[in-house]
Amino acid sequence: VPTDSRVTFDGRFARELPEMAVAWQAEEAPEPQLLALNEALAAELGFDGEFLRTREGLALLLGTSVPEGATPVAQAYSGHQFGSFNPRLGDGRALLLGELTDTEGRLRDLHLKGAGRTPFARGGDGLAAVGPMLREYIVSEAMQALGIPTTRSLAVVATGRAVRRETLLPGAVLARIASSHLRVGSFQYAAATGNQDLLQRLADHAISRHYPEAASADRPYLALFESVVAVQASLVAQWMLAGFIHGVMNTDNMTVSGETIDYGPCAFMDVFDYSTVYSSIDHGGRYAYANQPIVAEWNLARLAEALVPLLDDDQEQAVKLAVGALETFRPRYSGAWLAGMRTKLGLPDDVADEVASLLAHDVLTLLQDNHVDYTSFFRGLGSVVRGDARPARDTVLDVAAFDAWAARWLALGPGADAMDRANPVYIPRNHLVEEALEAATAGNLDPLDRLVDVVRAPFDERPGLERYAAGAPGDFGRYTTYC
Ligand code: AMP
Ligand code: MG
Ligand code: MG
Repeated sequence: VPTDSRVTFDGRFARELPEMAVAWQAEEAPEPQLLALNEALAAELGFDGEFLRTREGLALLLGTSVPEGATPVAQAYSGHQFGSFNPRLGDGRALLLGELTDTEGRLRDLHLKGAGRTPFARGGDGLAAVGPMLREYIVSEAMQALGIPTTRSLAVVATGRAVRRETLLPGAVLARIASSHLRVGSFQYAAATGNQDLLQRLADHAISRHYPEAASADRPYLALFESVVAVQASLVAQWMLAGFIHGVMNTDNMTVSGETIDYGPCAFMDVFDYSTVYSSIDHGGRYAYANQPIVAEWNLARLAEALVPLLDDDQEQAVKLAVGALETFRPRYSGAWLAGMRTKLGLPDDVADEVASLLAHDVLTLLQDNHVDYTSFFRGLGSVVRGDARPARDTVLDVAAFDAWAARWLALGPGADAMDRANPVYIPRNHLVEEALEAATAGNLDPLDRLVDVVRAPFDERPGLERYAAGAPGDFGRYTTYC
């Protein structure tokens, strides 16, 4: 099979955890067409960008030609979906092609989403439509540029196959890169089998890939759990600071690595509101903006339950250790969130945390009460420090309340330059994402290319891009996302 000889594939997950890997093949694609290729990421992985554009390259990105050393598998995992446990989810429409070592020596998964039905497909068709795969491409690139840990998107290739949703849509495969696809649900799966050897091998695999220092801890599996608690507390704090709403924080959509994964009905909040929900399937608001830290902690409790058999021979002691580690989530989350808010508000180090916290919560109340665009407001605060209050002040209806808050804030001596590196000008605005996906689905890739280009440099204000910084037009209406 012709391939890019500079990239070497491994099948480590399948080799070390065969009970959780079903060897499988991607479905043929009648008419492959490259819709998006992440050149910088391709280079980082060691791929020849030109090769990936060839017929053989597209076959690799679709999984229809398997490179040497790779063992495409569907991964088994369980998961709590909206609170209900499903013991058998797994990759219903995706394959782990294998792991590859990037140019910096890091092991990374190459995963193909939309590659056809697998034994985990249940009622699903195994396919993905162009729109949602490009949404993942855009949003994951934005997250990366914002400095938020995320899986990456290498390419989106249209298959030429139609996908039946409400209407017939063009199908596509997303080639996704992750530091691994180990999920909370992967541990739930191993634990549910009752096979302690499997659970331990999975934990060892996770330690080796993500937390090698845990291996030499007094209690390696407790150290693993503590590490996951730490990275998830930090991740969700970054989501909250950016106004990102994941949309489906089921335990199968939460990684052990701390990377954001499975961009389904996700969106960036425009008007600030704690109760914001965009997903069409989240009727109860379980995954609303403000609930995300609570849900993350709940998911980590499920991970703790799965790991209990490894923590200590004495179950009571094991539970005590797990609870102790889980209790670090709240202070870690609050600490990360407040540190981020201090930066967004440009607060000098000598401002006490209590003062900073009150100021941050008060400004969010102001935004909520006045239906203010979250991203524009915070970016506008830099101008306020520089002497022009209008960009922030003009977004607030209750001007007196803004002035009172701003006076308290300005008295603390905020610094504008650091703020401009923390408050983005450009996020993937919902109306622009929709516009780009609609155009791409109809065959015009220009809006997509432009939007990706803009969100890749979110902090640098550029002339001529005002349209990308502005909130949704009045006639955009209530936004709903679909998986
Ligand atoms: P998600 O919540 O989208 O991450 O997916 C939850 C579960 O549904 C996973 O097991 C997926 O593999 C599976 N799934 C989602 N969409 C499809 C599809 N079109 N065909 C088969 N399985 C799917
Ligand atoms: Mg799910
Ligand atoms: Mg998922």
